[in-house]
Amino acid sequence: MKIDRKIQNFIDGEFVEPVGGRYLDNIEPATGKPYSQVADSDARDIDLAVAAAEKAFADWSKKPAAERSKILLRIAGLIERDLEELARAESIDTGKPLSLARTLDIPRAASNFRFFATAILHTQSEAHITDNVAFNYTLRQARGIAGLISPWNLPLYLLSWKIAPAIAVGNTAIAKPSELTPMTAYLLCEICREAQLPNGVLNIVHGTGSNVGAAITAHPKIGTISFTGGTVTGKKVAEACAPLFKKVSLELGGKNPNIIFADADLDAAIAGSVRSSFANQGQICLCGSRLFVERSAYKDFVDRFIEKTSSLKVGDPLDEKTEQGAIVNKAQLDKVKFYVDLAQKEGGKIALGGSAPESINERCRDGYFFPPTVITGLPVSCRTNREEIFGPVVTITPFDSEEEVIEYANDCDYGLASSVWTQNLNRAHRVAERISTGTVWVNCWLVRDLRVPFGGMKASGVGREGGIEALHFFTEAKNVCIAR
Ligand code: NAP
Repeated sequence: MKIDRKIQNFIDGEFVEPVGGRYLDNIEPATGKPYSQVADSDARDIDLAVAAAEKAFADWSKKPAAERSKILLRIAGLIERDLEELARAESIDTGKPLSLARTLDIPRAASNFRFFATAILHTQSEAHITDNVAFNYTLRQARGIAGLISPWNLPLYLLSWKIAPAIAVGNTAIAKPSELTPMTAYLLCEICREAQLPNGVLNIVHGTGSNVGAAITAHPKIGTISFTGGTVTGKKVAEACAPLFKKVSLELGGKNPNIIFADADLDAAIAGSVRSSFANQGQICLCGSRLFVERSAYKDFVDRFIEKTSSLKVGDPLDEKTEQGAIVNKAQLDKVKFYVDLAQKEGGKIALGGSAPESINERCRDGYFFPPTVITGLPVSCRTNREEIFGPVVTITPFDSEEEVIEYANDCDYGLASSVWTQNLNRAHRVAERISTGTVWVNCWLVRDLRVPFGGMKASGVGREGGIEALHFFTEAKNVCIAR
């Protein structure tokens, strides 16, 4: 497997030029320089992908689950075999530390294929006897062509989280990775060929959201849309899909609260909070960016949190020792800087970080770096505390009671995930029940069991992915009612 300099589309089992013949530069965030080119496709490429996916659907959807399972398991095995090359490609493409790509993104991509490959061997169909009148059973059928649109922060992990359930249940798929981070999706195509996934079952079309993404959501033959990205884009996707009555899942942004009670195991809470604040430079939708600490533990927590955070090594993502890599692009870096400025205008104090590091190394001289930044002294309702920054910037605010912190946590348009640190079991249950987020982690963060539903509340999205919910999302449940 080699990192190719020209990323083409993958349609009907072949790598093909985009119809318009145009390419975009693919920039390495750590250096700020182009290192490959990616197809700049448009609606004509989506038409070709739809034709291929439509042709493949008839056979693929009829294949016994065990056969589909075998192919998906082969894909999982090949991702594991190529873990090192995939991790390196992902690190170069996204700017994330190589160690994170190696331990999180790529293994989880393999797990996604393995999980759904085996899940389809254990599904059940419901049956209901209606007295002496009728016998009903639920027939779950693949829906046809699924359009899968994903963001740049965890490119292979999130794309495989959609591809695996979609094709496992017999759909064919057209996937669009973010144009900022296309490399691992491209490498996955080679893996699919080696795993003998039939042509046309998975098609990957590269390009911008406004050209390729919009063409997917507008295409009348793509009846299912699974989208992960920002809330503003999610709104556009919902608007495009609604008049066509598409089935849509939206996994959107977050501004996640991380609540530390004074009775928490503070060592664990500090270590967990440093991770949940700054993993992948804070560019994980599930990162906790609003920390709330009970007043009696506030000073101790802030001092120790800052001490631990300041020891994180910001560096070249390809350096094994690096813990904080680059921000994905200049626009995102500018956004981070904008919010750090805004926080100060809103009365916040920069307790750590706040300006770009002077130098990383010669190779990364022009890269997009920003250090972990901690802001204190802000009111809960200010913009910095309400809007998603999606970078290595967190705020810390003290609270006085359980009631107050629940109000703080919920005083936000988003509702993706939260963390609660406490040793009081009753409190953990009480608080978890009242926080409006799709996931509540208690004394942990980012622990994932693929069987559980995953998704956000409020402006963080609709629909649930993961486990049986994903299999249901990608199938049509038909009721067959037979008179007795
Ligand atoms: P984004 O700008 O919304 O883009 C997401 C994807 O949508 C990209 O592939 C993008 O293509 C495409 N797109 C853009 N405009 C489109 C349109 N009009 N129609 C269809 N597709 C379109 O998000 P991002 O900046 O890549 O990712 C960061 C965001 O994702 C954050 O808000 C983060 O919280 C969220 N996120 C959520 C989850 C979750 O599970 N809830 C997970 C990860 C990330 P281009 O790249 O070409 O613009």
